[in-house]
Amino acid sequence: MEARWRSSAKPVQAPKTTKTVSFEEVSGKASSSEALPLSLHLTNAVFFSLFFSVVYFLLSRWREKIRTSTPLHLVNLSEIVAIFAFIASFVYLLGFFGIDFVHSLILRPSTDLWNSEDEEENEALLRKEDARKIPCDQALDCSVTSAPIISAQKVVDEKPVKLTTEEDEEIIKAIVAGTTPSYSLESKLGDCKRAASIRREALGRITGKSLSGLPLDGFDYESILGQCCEMPIGYVQIPVGIAGPLLLNGKEYSVPMATTEGCLVASTNRGCKAIHLSGGASSVLLKDGMTRAPVVRFGTAKRAVDLKFYLEDPENFETLAVVFNRSSRFARLQGIKCVIAGKNLYLRFTCSTGDAMGMNMVSKGVQNVLDFLQTDFPDMDVIGISGNLCSDKKPAAVNWIEGRGKSVVCEAIINGDVVRKVLKTSVESLVELNMLKNLTGSAMAGALGGFNAHASNIVSAVYIATGQDPAQNIESSHCITMMEAVNEGNDLHISVTMPSIEVGTVGGGTQLASQSACLNLLGVKGASQESPGANSRRLATIVAGAVLAGELSLMSALAAGQLVKTQMKYNRSSKDVSKTS
Ligand code: ADP
Repeated sequence: MEARWRSSAKPVQAPKTTKTVSFEEVSGKASSSEALPLSLHLTNAVFFSLFFSVVYFLLSRWREKIRTSTPLHLVNLSEIVAIFAFIASFVYLLGFFGIDFVHSLILRPSTDLWNSEDEEENEALLRKEDARKIPCDQALDCSVTSAPIISAQKVVDEKPVKLTTEEDEEIIKAIVAGTTPSYSLESKLGDCKRAASIRREALGRITGKSLSGLPLDGFDYESILGQCCEMPIGYVQIPVGIAGPLLLNGKEYSVPMATTEGCLVASTNRGCKAIHLSGGASSVLLKDGMTRAPVVRFGTAKRAVDLKFYLEDPENFETLAVVFNRSSRFARLQGIKCVIAGKNLYLRFTCSTGDAMGMNMVSKGVQNVLDFLQTDFPDMDVIGISGNLCSDKKPAAVNWIEGRGKSVVCEAIINGDVVRKVLKTSVESLVELNMLKNLTGSAMAGALGGFNAHASNIVSAVYIATGQDPAQNIESSHCITMMEAVNEGNDLHISVTMPSIEVGTVGGGTQLASQSACLNLLGVKGASQESPGANSRRLATIVAGAVLAGELSLMSALAAGQLVKTQMKYNRSSKDVSKTS
């Protein structure tokens, strides 16, 4: 069976007797004829011609009989043949074109917006939804001309929809019946696109839900195999906007941001403009070290402390660094921080990882060291390679204080005129708002690294565009925004300090086509040829620069009261103001 599945890379053919119907067809969105082979088109044409010819013949004979008062039931041979031809062609045409219609009445899921028969109604609904998003809550010039909305459904419908082959149909049935696991499709078929297509079809039948808004075509499924996503059934489209140029350390960057939050890009763009007009921002990398912290247990607290002291001895560290660094030519152990909890010991390893974000790399190095330590500490019980002191994808003070990944500080002096003309506020208002909101307000809220207005908005959008791990936006968005009046109170000094920016330009999602294009736009695609790690470090400074722009713009909108004013003016926004800050 497996070999047979693999070999079926031949063109799709529609079986004549047991015509298979794809889920898209069942939900009434695809014309079955689009993917038919030529012979079937010819058969259809013959039966169509036959049907209309005999209908014409019989009607003319009927008319003749009425005219000559001949009884209708008296039929000659040619009429008998014509009646048979009529019945045969009628049955064929009903069988071929009528099945879809009957199925669509019986099987169509009714609750899904995308499944509504009336596409125009859907689009009107969407337009209404969209209208509520205007204006944007950041009070920028985001006037949206009512461009026609092309629904995802429509985009998908424009593509030819293939009928499933008999073999595919067999596999789909096996998945629906639970006899073939869906996850095994890629290895069994050796064709990732076909596997995704079959899985999707089976899922549609199992759930009875339409997936027609989720595109399948236009994606390289081989590129994610074993690396980025398991059991794919399609991909989600996220628009990418561009903010900039961001003038940072004397260079201009066009910053790609993947987001569905209206005005986020526009707001960041305005911040970039203010920075540019003021001579640019500068950004400095303070530290570069990814962490992993296994937890090990001993029989007594004393034994745990023995290992702590052993690891803290500089001579031992040298040996361990050699063992650790064997894991990769880019991994370089920087330190091990030991924390005791009773008889348990947490070892927070920090290492540089070149242009990779580094989680895999550091984990491999840690495993090497644990294996090595087992010789001298055979009573050490490794409970887990990650003991949460790392701390990955969870809010934790250790990252805020010690840093994780790249620690960056970025600053700019914004000219007073620019504050007034571009940002429509004053230096004094900004400084006061920053003190009361980002510092005092966040302190009152017990914030952990959240001393900013919306750093995570920018971090997430840039992360998604450039193939970073979006879950790491939790610690990567740790940021304190500072503002101060300088030059006798005329200008604004603004800075963002971000201790845990976790980014890479190789590995993970960074090599996928669209994410790689965004990295290329920033000039940081792949491994740096001059100096390993230079690309990922530069990306971290760009993230901080974009955050600086975003902070500047949103804080200005708040200081100028634009946010509330715009809300009041249109009084239609469904958005919660608090969500933007
Ligand atoms: P991560 O550790 O971020 O999960 P991966 O392990 O997926 O990253 O990718 C890192 C891989 O890329 C390693 O195998 C490493 O040898 C390779 N690599 C090639 N060039 C570089 C570079 N300049 N910096 C870091 N890793 C690199």
